[in-house]
Amino acid sequence: MRLFRLLALIFICVVLTTNSEAQKTARRSLQGRNQTIANIVREIDAKNIEHTIRQLVSFGTRNTLSEQNDPKRGIGAARDWLYAEFLKVAEASDGRMTVEKQSFEQPKAARIPQPTVLTNIVATLKGTQSESADRIYVVSGHYDSMCNSPTDAKCDAPGANDDASGTAAVLEMARVMAKYKFDATIVFMTVPGEEQGLLGAAHYAEDAKQKAVNVDAMFTNDIIGNTLGGNGVRDRGTVRVFSEGVPSNETTAEATTRRSVGGENDSASRQLARFIKETGERYVPQMKVMLVYRRDRYGRGGDHNPFLERGFPAVRFTEVNEEYKHQHQNVRVENGVQYGDLPEFVDFAYVANVARINAASLAMLALAPSRPHNVNILTARLSNDTDLKWDANKEPDIAGYEIVWRDTTSPVWTDSKAVGNVTSFTMKGMSKDNYFFGVRAVDKDGNRSPVTYPKPLGRNQPASQTSSTP
Ligand SMILES: [Zn+2]
Repeated sequence: MRLFRLLALIFICVVLTTNSEAQKTARRSLQGRNQTIANIVREIDAKNIEHTIRQLVSFGTRNTLSEQNDPKRGIGAARDWLYAEFLKVAEASDGRMTVEKQSFEQPKAARIPQPTVLTNIVATLKGTQSESADRIYVVSGHYDSMCNSPTDAKCDAPGANDDASGTAAVLEMARVMAKYKFDATIVFMTVPGEEQGLLGAAHYAEDAKQKAVNVDAMFTNDIIGNTLGGNGVRDRGTVRVFSEGVPSNETTAEATTRRSVGGENDSASRQLARFIKETGERYVPQMKVMLVYRRDRYGRGGDHNPFLERGFPAVRFTEVNEEYKHQHQNVRVENGVQYGDLPEFVDFAYVANVARINAASLAMLALAPSRPHNVNILTARLSNDTDLKWDANKEPDIAGYEIVWRDTTSPVWTDSKAVGNVTSFTMKGMSKDNYFFGVRAVDKDGNRSPVTYPKPLGRNQPASQTSSTP
């Protein structure tokens, strides 16, 4: 009887302990998901996005060369309206979000007939972990527009899809995310001058490079609102994410290393794209992220280019099937066909879903530890094992690391192994010849960083001088 009572007591203790553990886990994650990210995704509202797009269209034109001082029409009216909106959403941040007009005079250029002032609207949500606050994630859309001619500042250029859609997504993300706390810093940016040669984005990227700002990732959202393509295909459930394989700023020495070990499919931008697919589809299951292994659409470009050229990982979000009758067109009806980038051709619910993919990925990036640094595969010994090492992360909430791998022909990481809070690990019996490996960091809440692709490292040699064993 006494034994029975003792057993019963132990049983109750076990149940109580397990229960409180379970509650803690439940608070942290919903079916393995982070509750903060799930909330953010839920709070993004297509109605706000529609309102922003219609408001931006109401300025008649947002051509970068259009009127700067008219309160109703032109790029200046759009600039001031956006600035005021970002100031409003910043109120929910307890002072953590600051909003800045980043103005500069653009000298004469191909599509700039006379020196012109351009103004980026930059809303910065400061990270709350001191070890991570200087790690920055930028999400951007361009608020300028054009009709047939990029230098026609007078014609109506509604730019509802290109790119009021991306601008509205960024503003809505800022609204929702301003009240949440993140370890790292998120910059919500809208820029002019995209149609004039990516000028606003280039100014931000160059300024960041000069000031050695740690821009760990940049997303541009450009043309994210049309779901009926010129090919007649309706697709409301897919978004393309473009990422380059070989870095735009790769040096000759880095190219030599890459050729010797493989890696043309493993730039930091490509890892970022895989991270977006994994995170985005998890939190926004109604959407599919279509990875496109190109810097941008065929022969075209976007605001991520100036970031890539300066060594910052960056990707582009765009709808799957474009409709060219509604891009860069004077508004007109020809043979009964409507041309022009009008709001009636924007699918606001779809823009909201693309914003959700962005927001889930940004939130995970800014909650998770930094991707590991100085990740190496050791090449000093010929072996059927793979020896990996990396620097310890500095965040206080680091839990450990995961090794990921895939077959060399696989487009995405297929396997992972938790290896604990260590800075080296040997994958026994798995040859670096036959797999691609990577390392990512995990914090105590289970938030995972993007993967870092290792560089080869021979014994007593700095990484930059090594090549593979002959
Ligand atoms: Zn555009």
